Amino acid sequence: MGSDCFDESFHGYGEFWCLGDTRPYMRALGAIANLAHRLGDVDKSIAASTEALRLCHGDNMGQRFVLSSLLLKAGRFSDALSFCQVWLDPQYDGLNRPRGGCEFNPPNPELLTARLVEWHSKPWSPGNLLLNAAYAAFGLWGDCELARQYLVLGTRANPNIFVKVLARREKPDGPYSRPRTTNGTDEAHDYRWLTQDLWAEPEAWVWINTNRDVIDIVVKTCAREGCGRREMRPLDFKKCGGCRQAFYCGPECQREDWQAHRQACRQANAPPAPPDSPVYAMSGFLNDEGALDAMTLDNSDDSSDLSDLWEYGVEVEPY
Ligand SMILES: [Zn+2]
Ligand SMILES: [Zn+2]
Repeated sequence: MGSDCFDESFHGYGEFWCLGDTRPYMRALGAIANLAHRLGDVDKSIAASTEALRLCHGDNMGQRFVLSSLLLKAGRFSDALSFCQVWLDPQYDGLNRPRGGCEFNPPNPELLTARLVEWHSKPWSPGNLLLNAAYAAFGLWGDCELARQYLVLGTRANPNIFVKVLARREKPDGPYSRPRTTNGTDEAHDYRWLTQDLWAEPEAWVWINTNRDVIDIVVKTCAREGCGRREMRPLDFKKCGGCRQAFYCGPECQREDWQAHRQACRQANAPPAPPDSPVYAMSGFLNDEGALDAMTLDNSDDSSDLSDLWEYGVEVEPY
């Protein structure tokens, strides 16, 4: 690599990770960021994460999701918003960001245009970065329109985050150990590990709890037509154990709905589509090796959350 490999004059500057020999070093930086965060040394964690992004402008390791939360923890709202805005900027779609997004120029205070709102409404738009942009804008300017725009877009992109934050589920004690799905429960797990404490602070907590759009996204309505009951708070209802998509207020409604739901349930529960199908292609995340993992779009909770399922009707005739 040569002794100048960390300099900006190095021919592979910003391309670490893509240069295979650099991966152990990049993994070490990621581990330092992780460990320092666990030990409560936010500044050290930020330094390691920022260095990883300086060396790898394409961020193959997903450090942007960590750093954006760390900047919030350090109270660096302006830098956090600037950083999120660079990573959310469509002009860089598929391209490297200058210094991995760590130039920390002043953030843009203007409202998102209709075109940007549409851009951020795509299923793969990163819910974690949108919510961190919301938190940063709220920290800078309070309950302003821009902060609300990010808040609602982020909640919509990955509802799994606020469903559990608002249900006051216990904060995860470490990052998810398996590959993540874009905007899945696994990404929500990582996000909550890093950021749940911030949303639980009184001002932020009141802010999200009083936002009608957020509540409408995270609160479920019973799937039985004619019931109309809504959750009093997120995760009050359980979901069908077959498809993990239909929520019911209780076993009676699930039983009554089974004839109507059965066909949709079995279709949803069909074997996954082949790896080259559009469903797979849309969803994925660079794993530790920098390869795109093929996954379904299933946003359901992982198997540790079986208590959230109503198992009635799965695989058996109800009567
Ligand atoms: Zn019901
Ligand atoms: Zn079902």
